[in-house]
Amino acid sequence: MYNSTDIRELCEEEGIRMIDFKMTDLDGRWRHITIPVERFNDDIFVYGIGFDGSNYGYAPVEKSDMVFIPDPATAVVDPFTEIPTLTMCGNVCVIGKENTPFDQYPRNVSLRAMEYMKAEGIADEMLIGPEFEFHLFDNVSFMVDPQKTAFTVDTRQASWNSGKEGPGNAGFQVPKGGGYHIAAPHDIAYSLRSKMCMYMEDWGIDVKYHHHEVGGSGQMEIEVELGDMVDMADKTMIIKYIIRNAAVQEGKTATFMPKPIYKEAGNGMHVHMLLMKDGEPIFYDENGYSGLSQTAHYFIGGLLKHVPSLCAFTNPSTNSFKRLVPGYEAPVTIGYATSNRSAVIRIPAYAKSPAAKRFELRNPDATANPYYAYAAILMAGLDGIKNKIDPSANGWGPYDCNLFDLPEDEKAKIQSLPRTLDEALDALEADHDYLTAGGVFPERLIEIWLERKRKESLEISQIPHPAEFEKYYDL
Ligand code: GLN
Ligand code: MG
Ligand code: MG
Ligand code: MG
Repeated sequence: MYNSTDIRELCEEEGIRMIDFKMTDLDGRWRHITIPVERFNDDIFVYGIGFDGSNYGYAPVEKSDMVFIPDPATAVVDPFTEIPTLTMCGNVCVIGKENTPFDQYPRNVSLRAMEYMKAEGIADEMLIGPEFEFHLFDNVSFMVDPQKTAFTVDTRQASWNSGKEGPGNAGFQVPKGGGYHIAAPHDIAYSLRSKMCMYMEDWGIDVKYHHHEVGGSGQMEIEVELGDMVDMADKTMIIKYIIRNAAVQEGKTATFMPKPIYKEAGNGMHVHMLLMKDGEPIFYDENGYSGLSQTAHYFIGGLLKHVPSLCAFTNPSTNSFKRLVPGYEAPVTIGYATSNRSAVIRIPAYAKSPAAKRFELRNPDATANPYYAYAAILMAGLDGIKNKIDPSANGWGPYDCNLFDLPEDEKAKIQSLPRTLDEALDALEADHDYLTAGGVFPERLIEIWLERKRKESLEISQIPHPAEFEKYYDL
């Protein structure tokens, strides 16, 4: 935790030449602006740095002048720059007589969600633990140029684990769907994943573990220890930055796309969560179903009630819904259960102690803006607690069976997750009072999100798809 004097000292010690400021745009990408260390002075922490917010997606053009105020406590030496660079995150404000925090800025939305939770007297901490699944590829030739035809697409050639990579690794291809925890020499990404985790530790992120994932084509996973919600949203941005840049350093490319390869496991970002009040976990009850308290049940009820609209923030891409299909351990139905990976909420059987008692929400993926996604998850759960939404009374389980294997008539009774981005957006339009409660999500943000995402979905639906060439070219 640095103040501005420490920062000056650190710059001298580390021979820093550039100071870099990182901001999150509406979609959840980092953008940055850089000053020479010679321009650094304390005024920056008061007056900030002006920029054009309309290019970040979150400001109407007529009020696009915004200011970024860095937070010295977030300062870190960026491990990926050739030029010694100190990097900082911070807040985005609207310029007025006084700079006021911009209400749509992603980080401010998650901060408000936490304040709302405290003001309602429900809890004072939310701990979350996201899991990061991603693919490593050694080139991007499989990326589809919409102007080209289907015949340029060959994911087998693109995958790092094609078996052609690295001398001596031929014959140790990871079988399709057989990559889970696979060891060397199949696991040729071990060193790279370890480096990613070392960068994370150096940045102050506690890694739980890392491993090869189920997918046969370079699918990886890194999990981190649970931590404070807003801090974890910051860390989610940092983790994705580290994974992408560490891959680039080795001439690889990393993607969090939920479903990069047809008929292969997709990339989720499961989110584990629990609430704390007065330093005590409030999701534990040794007599409750699966060790969960009534409060935890109501929280689950809120999540399950609102999950269709929640998907508009936790699964906000058209590709998200190509992952949420049966057969790949990704959820498709609305329900909860213990140890059951086919339900959208799974209570891990191994987390037994009061402090570890939690559940995971399995639908989210990393195309989400983490600040909006985590805040929306919290708001759905709080709505469940406030309105005492009982998940078992609403036909949401618990389902301690494989939901994919149920007889058709039983399956028909279970509600499905949205099947497309458009369905999720329709759900958000119809159901967002739980998000705007207490002014946590500004109405304007919901409007902008719906408008932007609908446009995106329409655009993609109008692009001739490579598979259409296969199916229709000769008709
Ligand atoms: N990849 C799966 C998903 O899309 C999860 C698989 C797992 O973690 N065991 O959610
Ligand atoms: Mg995992
Ligand atoms: Mg996994
Ligand atoms: Mg999981």
